Formats: sequence, C-alpha cells, structure tokens
Amino acid sequence: MIALITGASAGIGKACAYKFSENGYDLIVTGRRESKLKELQSELEAKFKNKIKILAFDIQEESQVKAAFTNLSAEWMNIDVLVNNAGLALGREGIDMGSMEDYNTMIDTNIKGLLYVSKAVIPNMKTRKAGHIINLSSTAAKEVYPGGGVYCATKHAVDALTKGMRIDLLSYGIKVSSISPGMVDTEFSKVRFKGNETLAAEVYKGFTPLYAEDVAEVISYVASLPKHVNVNDLVLTCTAQANSFFTHKE
Ligand code: NAP
Repeated sequence: MIALITGASAGIGKACAYKFSENGYDLIVTGRRESKLKELQSELEAKFKNKIKILAFDIQEESQVKAAFTNLSAEWMNIDVLVNNAGLALGREGIDMGSMEDYNTMIDTNIKGLLYVSKAVIPNMKTRKAGHIINLSSTAAKEVYPGGGVYCATKHAVDALTKGMRIDLLSYGIKVSSISPGMVDTEFSKVRFKGNETLAAEVYKGFTPLYAEDVAEVISYVASLPKHVNVNDLVLTCTAQANSFFTHKE
C-alpha cells in the first residue's frame, strides 16, 4: 500500500507520515523543505523499515508538480491514499488591509496546489478503480471569522472540491473525504504570523488544543474503513473548542 502525503515536512502531514508508516504503508512525502523530508525519511526507514520517496516541490507551481510526477516510476504511481494536506494561512488583517500577495499565496497553495496534485494522481486511481483522497479542510470551511476571510474562502473551496471529486469519481469506486480540524498546535500559527513566536504561542494559551498526532489518528481511522464505507466529512476540535468562535480558555 502506498500513501502520498503532501506537506509532510511539518505538523499534521508529518504526524500522518508516522501513523501511515506504523500502519505498514510505503510513502511519498512532499514539501518544499527537502532537508526536513530527508530527516523524516531516515527516521521512518529506521523505525518502520518501509520505503519512503521524497518529492520536493513548491505546490503553487504547476510545472514543478508536473515534473515531479512525470519522473515518478510506474510502481510509485499506484497510490492508494492521497492526503492533500499542504496548506497555510497568512495574516489576520481585515479583508481590505491584508496583502494581495498573501491572498494569492493562500489561494495558489490551498486550492490550486491541491488541484495540481489531485490531477496528477487521479488518472491512475481511475485505471485501477480504487483509491482514497483525503482533503485537509478546516472548521474555517464551516464558519468565517474576522480577519480570516481569504483563508476561510480557500477552505470553503476545499469543501466544494471534495464534494465535486466525490461526485465525479463515484463510478470509479474512489473514496473522497474531508477532515476538518479546529485549532491544532503545529507550525500553522508561526507561519500565519510570519515567524512571530509570541503571537503564535498566544493562539494556544489557556486550553489544550489538538495536536498533529490527534488529527493523524483520525485520518488513519478514516483511511482504515472497509471499502464500502466512506466518511464524507469529519469535523474535529479539541474539547475546549466548540467552533471557530467559542473556545473555553482558563
Ligand atoms: P504546518 O505545520 O505549517 O505544515 C504545513 C505543511 O504544508 C508543511 O509541511 C509545508 O511544507 C507544506 N506547505 C505549505 N506551503 C507549501 C508549498 N507552497 N509547497 C509545498 N508544501 C507546502 O501546518 P499544519 O497545521 O500541519 O497544516 C496542515 C493542513 O491542515 C493545512 O492544509 C491547514 O490549512 C490545515 N489545518 C490546520 C489547522 C491548524 O490549526 N493547525 C486547522 C485546520 C486545518 P514546506 O514548508 O516544507 O513547504
């Protein structure tokens, strides 16, 4: 069994790489930071003795994504599970105050990047009439919060793409799911606040958030269900969070 996990150099993707390795999968791991992927490869191969293939590319660049898959051997193209995880948020300014560059980066990564990878993987799944695509959505796909308009729009788009994929791939027996977490303590907030550790730490203060491993556990469960069972969308938050607006902080 082969799983392809995008954005495996950190956070939820990295935790998924561990979980899927534990479950006996060989892995294709992607991200821009090749050194982080190489560290992960050594750790996983030493611990689980599975095969790990690294594809380092910027998911925003269609030509880079295409080149990575063109060079992939036929054996590695038989992907059973695709975890479309790579993504990010940038900034918390009001819609008129945020930078267009940040907006483009979120749209190009979270929506277009997911499409580039999916388009590279789906043809083989269709030929084999099997496969499972798991898209990382968010509670940001369910409600829009102040200063999050564009990030929330990209995750609403992920929900729409998940529904569209499920319809279009139905007759091929390909499962399509989305996983929608609330706050998860990863590099996410550090990236959102452009390296400002104080602002990032503030997000997770006063309550126990989800950890990357919690989300990986749920993704692993969704991927483990029998062929005739599909989770369409699974929303999970830490116990202290009710939705995008209500979090109980001590
Ligand atoms: P993270 O720790 O910052 O990890 C993000 C991953 O995405 C990294 O591996 C990063 O790799 C990759 N990535 C970002 N931009 C990329 C690009 N242009 N090209 C290739 N890879 C790129 O964040 P995370 O929390 O694990 O987020 C994973 C997913 O969960 C995202 O889709 C996010 O929207 C979603 N999510 C997160 C939360 C949360 O609270 N953390 C909640 C709901 C949903 P490189 O930097 O090496 O490229």
